[in-house]
Amino acid sequence: MEYYDVIIVGGGPAGLAAGIYSARAKMKTLLIEKGLIGGQAATTSEIENYPGFPESVGGPELCELMEKQAKKFNIDIRTEEFKNLSISDKLKLVETSKGTYQASAVILAMGAEPKKLGVKGEDEFRGAGVSYCATCDGFFYNGKKVMVVGGGDTAVEEALFLTKFAEKVFVVHRRDQLRATKILQERAFSNKKIEIIWNSVVKRIEGSNKVERVVMENVKTKQEKTVEVDGVFMAIGYTPTSDAIKKIINTDEAGYVITDEEMRTNIRGVYAVGDIRKKPLRQVITAVSDGAVAAVSASKYVEELKNV
Ligand code: NAP
Repeated sequence: MEYYDVIIVGGGPAGLAAGIYSARAKMKTLLIEKGLIGGQAATTSEIENYPGFPESVGGPELCELMEKQAKKFNIDIRTEEFKNLSISDKLKLVETSKGTYQASAVILAMGAEPKKLGVKGEDEFRGAGVSYCATCDGFFYNGKKVMVVGGGDTAVEEALFLTKFAEKVFVVHRRDQLRATKILQERAFSNKKIEIIWNSVVKRIEGSNKVERVVMENVKTKQEKTVEVDGVFMAIGYTPTSDAIKKIINTDEAGYVITDEEMRTNIRGVYAVGDIRKKPLRQVITAVSDGAVAAVSASKYVEELKNV
């Protein structure tokens, strides 16, 4: 069984930053990512609050730079799906779709996935008009009408991004106030292509073989309203990707991993970083910070083990 000092599970900004710090500390480091390097950040069209990029930076571009930097320090990056984590004395066993690895320390950086709304038509039309990523799919809606569900930063950013393609963007929000930060709200309010449908929830998505219309209900008047759209983008928040580790790692009720300030979980030598972690602000800047802290802490732990 192959041994690594540190195994990082997840290749978003948190995992990549952990990789850079771990490899620079001369730890033999493996990073496992099942899909796209960069995770959610790589599906964000523009990041304008990450310091060092006064003109903003594309999510894919920023993640590519992080990956390049990590590789410069010789970490192994493998495309494999994480399956299970178990503990065998002081060693951690990381099982993936391709095999099992041993490590002294493991850094969990699996992030979070977009939440499903749970309405009729959502699964049926997924990929046929229902999407969870405007950056990935917005391009298909040139000159069309789309809807974004949600009222947070993601929903407003996605709506603004979609105005580059669509002729009309409806934002459906269940309250009469957006949750998104003020600067994004102002941009949405002043964009003529965006229309916000307040106090409303989606009841069902309809169409023959692709999305054609959305039926909504006003939560105050209980009146139904149908809007014809070609696409629906769900942006109602995220769920942590912690199912595979929940049985041994402590999480809160929502599934976010509980850590201390050194990113240590309840198991010695296992750390959690980025969006999977219980914390007040989930952004690229806090993700990379978590990664750095965890990698330094993990390196000390690995050295201690070697000196026992
Ligand atoms: P969020 O802040 O949790 O907002 C989710 C939105 O969806 C809320 O407006 C919520 O309504 C609504 N919602 C939740 N469940 C719903 C349901 N079942 N039906 C209808 N509406 C529902 O999630 P997010 O916008 O994805 O943001 C997640 C985190 O990432 C936040 O910390 C955010 O600040 C951060 N983020 C930051 C940026 C940036 O800085 N540029 C960009 C994207 C995301 P209520 O408001 O009524 O609860």
